[in-house]
Amino acid sequence: MSKFSFTLNATDGAARTGVISTPRGEIRTPAFMPVGTAATVKAMMPESVAATGADILLGNTYHLMLRPTAERIARLGGLHKFMNWNKPILTDSGGFQVMSLASLRKLTEEGVRFASHIDGSKHMLTPERSMEIQKLLGSDIVMAFDECPALPATDAEVAKSMRLSMRWALRSREAFGDRPGYALFGIQQGGVTRELRAESAEKLTEIGFEGYAVGGLAVGEGQEVMFGVLDYAPDMLPVDKPRYLMGVGKPDDIVGAVERGIDMMDCVLPSRSGRTGQAWTRRGQINIKNARHADDPRPLDEGCTCPACRNYSRAYLHHVFRSQEMISGMLLTWHNLHYYQDLMQGLRDAIAAGTLAQFVAAFHAKRAEGDIEPI
Ligand SMILES: [Zn+2]
Repeated sequence: MSKFSFTLNATDGAARTGVISTPRGEIRTPAFMPVGTAATVKAMMPESVAATGADILLGNTYHLMLRPTAERIARLGGLHKFMNWNKPILTDSGGFQVMSLASLRKLTEEGVRFASHIDGSKHMLTPERSMEIQKLLGSDIVMAFDECPALPATDAEVAKSMRLSMRWALRSREAFGDRPGYALFGIQQGGVTRELRAESAEKLTEIGFEGYAVGGLAVGEGQEVMFGVLDYAPDMLPVDKPRYLMGVGKPDDIVGAVERGIDMMDCVLPSRSGRTGQAWTRRGQINIKNARHADDPRPLDEGCTCPACRNYSRAYLHHVFRSQEMISGMLLTWHNLHYYQDLMQGLRDAIAAGTLAQFVAAFHAKRAEGDIEPI
């Protein structure tokens, strides 16, 4: 069985491009992972997700453990078979969503006890249980169980939470065990405080993981603060392991994170906004429900090769959105995911060619032009 490995192929400034190899396939980095929360990227067939250029997608432990349950998915052959996705899958630990979705939460050294947001049933997530669930799912990249403090928080609160997460990281490592071909990623915490980020990175590196996430960002602190942390935090992590920024983001967040040395990202934004009539293009954001599109025979983006742009007009996309037809969410999600993967390919090519600065300048210039003039 082949192993899990990361090969760094080129750098340009702090930015990196390479390949993560897993028994289920290669992940080209920097990589964007579409989010398949409940064993589906909403409005997309898995083969369509692959057609956009995605090498890996993300599943949510919290959602899957509650419904249909990890045990049922394991009985049915694991998450890949269950959802018909044969490429790599990363699952989160469930920790973040317990804190944001569940009720009656009780946090102790042992873990988090909570009530399901679906039916109120009682559950307990611990590092050991999170590892067990992610193993039952068959996830290729497993995330350590951690706690992310609600912001705003004092330095003392962030430090206390980070140290708990580091104890949980060690318990996650021990519970994960020896599983060749599978990876466990540790998660750096420490909020926006450099010393706490350094302490967290040191502790994680001492434990040793196959990859490292920069956690606790993209939780409402704003882009400037996030970039401020990314100016130093990735550099504290081992250079020869993938670095994952969780829950990011908008296209300009992604570009800025890649410039600062991030290799992997995930976000619900392209799929979620596709269902609310928002399209992301090289010229920025388009709201398809605006009346200006009603008679427009042109595609969303004439430079895009996705099915929504090749075969349909803005007028059609406007019509089906206004009529609440399901194809509206399907086409806009496809376009958005395609655009995100195009952007990642552009970033990878530019880093490999040593032309990232020019690529980023062109990216911002095109967005500054704004959408094409109305008909
Ligand atoms: Zn398109």
